[in-house]
Amino acid sequence: DIFVYRFEEGHARGDGSQKELLGGKGAGLAEMARLGMPVPPGMTLTTEACRSYLEHGFFPEGLEMQVRQGIAWLEKRTGRGFGDVDNPLLLSVRSGGARSMPGMMDTVLNLGLSEDSVEGLARQSGDRRFAYDCQRRFVQMYTSVVMGVDDALLEEVLVRHRRRAGVDDDHDLGWEELFAISEAMRQKAVEVTGRDVPRGPFGQLWGAVEAVFRSWEAPRARAYRKLHRMNGGGWGTAVNIMVMVFGNLGDESASGVAFSRNPATGEARPYGEYMIATQGEDVVGGRRSPGPLGMEEEQHGGMAAMERLMPEQYAELCGYMQELERNYHDMQDVEFCVERGKLWMLQTRAAKRTGQAAVRAALEMCEEGLIDEEEAILRVDPKLHLERALHRQIAGTPPEPIARGQAASPGAATGEIALSSERAVERAEKGKSVILVRPMTSADDVEGLHAAVGVLTAQGGLTSHAAVVARGIGTPCVCGVGELRIDEDKGGCYVGDAFFEEGERITIDGGSGKVFGEALELNDPTITGELKTFLKLADRYRRLEVRVNVDSNEEAEMARKMGAEGVGLCRTEHMILESSEAVRAMRQVLLSTDWETREQGLNALVDYQRQEVAQILRTMDGLPVMVRLLDPPAHEFLPGTAAGRKSVAKVLGISEEAVGWRVDALRETNPMLGFRGGRLAMVYPQIYEAQVQAIVEASRQVQDEGVRTRVEIAIPMVADPGEAGHLIAVINDAVARHLYGLSREADVAVGVMVEVPRAALLAGELALEADFFSFGTNDLTQLMWGMSRDDASRFMEAYRDQGVLSEDPFEILDRAGVGLLMRQALKQGRMVYPQLAAGVCGEHAGEPHSIRFFEALNLDYVSVSPYRVASSRLAAAQAFI
Ligand code: ADP
Ligand code: MG
Ligand code: MG
Repeated sequence: DIFVYRFEEGHARGDGSQKELLGGKGAGLAEMARLGMPVPPGMTLTTEACRSYLEHGFFPEGLEMQVRQGIAWLEKRTGRGFGDVDNPLLLSVRSGGARSMPGMMDTVLNLGLSEDSVEGLARQSGDRRFAYDCQRRFVQMYTSVVMGVDDALLEEVLVRHRRRAGVDDDHDLGWEELFAISEAMRQKAVEVTGRDVPRGPFGQLWGAVEAVFRSWEAPRARAYRKLHRMNGGGWGTAVNIMVMVFGNLGDESASGVAFSRNPATGEARPYGEYMIATQGEDVVGGRRSPGPLGMEEEQHGGMAAMERLMPEQYAELCGYMQELERNYHDMQDVEFCVERGKLWMLQTRAAKRTGQAAVRAALEMCEEGLIDEEEAILRVDPKLHLERALHRQIAGTPPEPIARGQAASPGAATGEIALSSERAVERAEKGKSVILVRPMTSADDVEGLHAAVGVLTAQGGLTSHAAVVARGIGTPCVCGVGELRIDEDKGGCYVGDAFFEEGERITIDGGSGKVFGEALELNDPTITGELKTFLKLADRYRRLEVRVNVDSNEEAEMARKMGAEGVGLCRTEHMILESSEAVRAMRQVLLSTDWETREQGLNALVDYQRQEVAQILRTMDGLPVMVRLLDPPAHEFLPGTAAGRKSVAKVLGISEEAVGWRVDALRETNPMLGFRGGRLAMVYPQIYEAQVQAIVEASRQVQDEGVRTRVEIAIPMVADPGEAGHLIAVINDAVARHLYGLSREADVAVGVMVEVPRAALLAGELALEADFFSFGTNDLTQLMWGMSRDDASRFMEAYRDQGVLSEDPFEILDRAGVGLLMRQALKQGRMVYPQLAAGVCGEHAGEPHSIRFFEALNLDYVSVSPYRVASSRLAAAQAFI
């Protein structure tokens, strides 16, 4: 078996398409090598080798041999010897799985160096400080990554020596100090682990390769995969062993990261950061602020741009990035290094980007002819780029900011300051909005970053860990705020001179980089500019209609701005719960003991619903509006406490005791399967009749104003075709009674929710009665699985952890089970009544995988929550392509 794939400038065994085998990094290196770009020679150990190692606990047969042959080849190519005392060959050992897990897996640089060869490196490079800098970096990374010594202990050594030498920056440490630091770190490792750093180069190499393989199973890598649902496919990490090139070899050397387009805005101009005389890790590590790539990004008093200090290398780098874009037809993110004036390419991958950047880059790449329209539509991720990236903005004119940093991930966020990830998680679990405020973040902060509504850091730029992760998950982020200083002892942070205690509320704007010292009001997102153009383009490739679930007119207004094509679900019980008067009227209906009071309550309900529905009809201006008749969890309307009962009794003018009896009579053992939906109208048809009256009158009123209306009335929770037929007759009678002059064509359709499995099974008979089906996939899933959605989180995790279920059926539609039933129901229904209209409401309707399935089912529409309208328009287009 071949476990080792070599690459060098001009040749490679592998190529960019082999991500599963070579990992993303290995595939990118092979592709760049094939394109003839200056990549240091090296080899990739396949993910297959990793899988075999993880399974058996030792290297697969042939691997060591192939690596040794590869090393001999590298020695020949470079004219250096691995472990040679006078002229050592140094290597980097880097992990890289099929999908990128930023900062999660580990890298060891300068491997092959030892006390024996460091002087040789010094002589050969003519720079002793450089040689000891490499030594220090190697020892630190090796002891941490391979030997598992706590980073904090190693950092402590560094800090102690810095302090002793009276410097802030490692740059100002001389070689003697660097040597002392390496020794101290080595001793620390011996102390902690009882083992020494191997002196022999192969000992180092095998140790590093094993560590990379094992890092796949490290808790934080597992946590990351779990968080990102990366449990299917692409198992194991590849290892890249490549010749070191040195960005830390004097002032004509540098390391950096660059994007072929701006990852925050999408602007088609290279964007990046670099640092003179450093090795790669320092740039993202955020100890010192890096300089910008292009001169336009130069900041007053900041470091000069690469374009200014290294114009030739800058131009060369930009050329490669362009070529990579043409090759991959996508925006790239690269790592590079300049060693004494020579540019080297170290990594390339598709760039992570904000929603704004994704949309703009897709449109512009399409205009440039790099991709076609379909491809442009597929390039934007509905969830990642639209759903979360359609961000909130500060309402009105904001006050003066208290500080400014880099605009790292767009959107505004208001929340309480949390100074650690643990506390961010804690507070978020209590339902608080938190802003995570840190000097900088690392892989250990991932959970805090996910829990926070916003992220604020003192150090680092657009490529810092915080910025990369925040953009990845669509959380607003401002980073590199110079005036921000965290004071753990005082339990707060300083912004300039102002002190903020942990828990105080602040606002950040990740689109402008501004920080405000108070909670500001935020506005909901809008669709303008490029996003509008992009969604219009996507609409041309879409068949499924996208409607919205609303309970109020405000939601309807917002949904129309997002492009909703109608209301697919208006829950009257939610509508009622939003108004205390309506709730009182409802209680009157449920609890009163005499007909007169009950009818008063009903009339009040009719008045209230007429107004609400009329407003929604006006807003939807001729688009279909589906109103679902009452599906009450009756207990939600009843007074829970003695005090509540007392006040209800007073309002209703009956005794507290009587209220108590009624409440007891209505109490249910299992409300989810209780007196709800159509059953309610079997007992109290007056309630549905009153609702229908309200809806029809609203429609007439709005029509009188000259606005067209299309109304659909749905009955929830029906289980039996006979039941459906009976209730539809009740409704039709009421419609006829209240229509007066209007014809039946005044567009009132009467249909049913298909959410009880029995109804779905008897869909053929149901379609004889109903004008339309609306699949309520939340209830359908609960009832088919026999699993309460509100309680499932307790045990669902166990199913996923043990690989029994890969998806949560409440999140992604269970195509195998629930989907099968839907398919049959639709087929039977349309056999009986070919014009049967059908849509889905429920959480699944806005979830891209499920939308793909609904498209295949040939449903007419999906109905989603307001903030998912835009993303669902895109997902539906993608499903059709
Ligand atoms: P990560 O996936 O965390 O970015 P990498 O494997 O890319 O880790 O490497 C960490 C840093 O080391 C990067 O900045 C990279 O550019 C640098 N690096 C990796 N290999 C080499 C090499 N052969 N020569 C010089 N720098 C390297
Ligand atoms: Mg990297
Ligand atoms: Mg339901």
